[in-house]
Amino acid sequence: MDIPFAHDLKAAIRTIPDYPKPGIMFRDITTLLGDARAFRRAVDELVQPWAGAKIDKVAGIEARGFILGGAVAHQVSAGFVPIRKKGKLPHQTVRMAYALEYGADEMEIHVDAISKGERVLLVDDLIATGGTAEGAIKLLRQIGAEVLAACFIIDLPELGGADKLRKLGVPVRTLVAFEGH
Ligand code: AMP
Repeated sequence: MDIPFAHDLKAAIRTIPDYPKPGIMFRDITTLLGDARAFRRAVDELVQPWAGAKIDKVAGIEARGFILGGAVAHQVSAGFVPIRKKGKLPHQTVRMAYALEYGADEMEIHVDAISKGERVLLVDDLIATGGTAEGAIKLLRQIGAEVLAACFIIDLPELGGADKLRKLGVPVRTLVAFEGH
């Protein structure tokens, strides 16, 4: 279900049909990020259920999850942890394969990014099939994180990603939903 003022947030997101390939409606958040009011509202709404809660770390998924995750971490006075495509992080990492629409890829986190039992919020811009976020949750749990929730501005509910995460025992917060892919 959309949050109050979802219409304003939705209007700030640009849709590019057939990008990066035919049939995909690309939901471009650069227009939302460039709109000061929409950016602030999105960050405020993402963290609203955890107002006053103790959060140790916010983990963001490369690359749009870094922009949102950094702002969310500041908002909740938590540290920020990047989850990156393989080969980008300089220190010792833990690696996890994850499913893409066609094929698979691998993501990494620094092995010492999170201490055992730390309370972590996962952030990305959009959840589609949930393959990317599922990989991130597994990585976080592998290094001892307690994943409090996963937060996304955009849900594509027909692709079932949010339900997939809930089945893993992770509450999901999304702000606006779009039909289709
Ligand atoms: P998934 O693993 O299927 O949940 O895909 C989520 C990841 O792919 C996120 O990091 C999104 O940024 C990106 N993504 C998937 N579909 C779209 C779309 N229609 N528009 C923009 N980004 C997308």
